[in-house]
Amino acid sequence: MGRARLVILVNGPFSTGRLVAVSTPLLELRNLHAQADGNSILRGVDLIVRDGEVHALMGPNGAGKSTLANVVMGHPGYVVTAGEILLNGENIAAWTPDERARKGIFLAFQYPEAIGGVSVVQFLRQAIAARKDLQELSILEVRLDLAEWMDRLGMDPAFAERHLNDGFSGGERKRNEVLQMALLEPMIAFLDETDSGLDIDALRIVANGVRTIRSEHPAMGVVVVTHYVKLLEEIEPDHVHILVDGQIVHSAGPELAQSIELDGYDAWRPVAT
Ligand code: ADP
Ligand code: MG
Repeated sequence: MGRARLVILVNGPFSTGRLVAVSTPLLELRNLHAQADGNSILRGVDLIVRDGEVHALMGPNGAGKSTLANVVMGHPGYVVTAGEILLNGENIAAWTPDERARKGIFLAFQYPEAIGGVSVVQFLRQAIAARKDLQELSILEVRLDLAEWMDRLGMDPAFAERHLNDGFSGGERKRNEVLQMALLEPMIAFLDETDSGLDIDALRIVANGVRTIRSEHPAMGVVVVTHYVKLLEEIEPDHVHILVDGQIVHSAGPELAQSIELDGYDAWRPVAT
């Protein structure tokens, strides 16, 4: 996609003359502050996601994890009061949620209610047409792509004909989310766990989905919001961050998830004053 790429020749007295490619991050959050209803929720978040990286965002309930995903997506319920969101180095402040989706930021559309009469495949057709800037997209083409992906992901083809969220279980919601991600080919995908949590079935669908999609689209960046260490063991994030009170208080490798499982978030909570 014609992203800026800078190649630096490391050629000092101690160097081995290596070529080091420094690419613009896919997504960069700089000192991001956001409010909802006049309450400060994000209070200075810095985050850099590069090509192909998987980041896990963990943290106690109410820390601001879902808010972070919503703010990046441009959800109208949140106001950015300071800081920047850069996609491939471009400040996206003025972009509508629609534009953000078209340009490759993905947050699964979660429908609280069934949408009367719209099937999974019909919905995907609209979403793909918007993402790929096509006026018309034949339903046949979508069906072919969809069939291929459902096969890869080990999903039952009948799922494509289900009506959106019409009695979807947690696992079916996640199937829908994974299909959206596979077919929309986002540059960066946010996967937020549902408030009711994930059962084992849903967890397996997400982990398997992320692995399969990454093998086809290795440059895609992923931010997984979860407190399930089991999910992270399967997805193997490159970086794990802990968000507490709207700030990333600690970042490390995947081993951090294990220590959270053992010790919880207490060590990272601010000391009450
Ligand atoms: P998490 O996903 O980490 O559990 P959230 O981002 O959902 O946390 O919420 C963080 C805090 O912001 C909570 O105290 C929540 O009540 C508040 N909050 C989130 N969204 C809104 C909103 N639209 N209006 C008012 N308060 C909100
Ligand atoms: Mg949440």
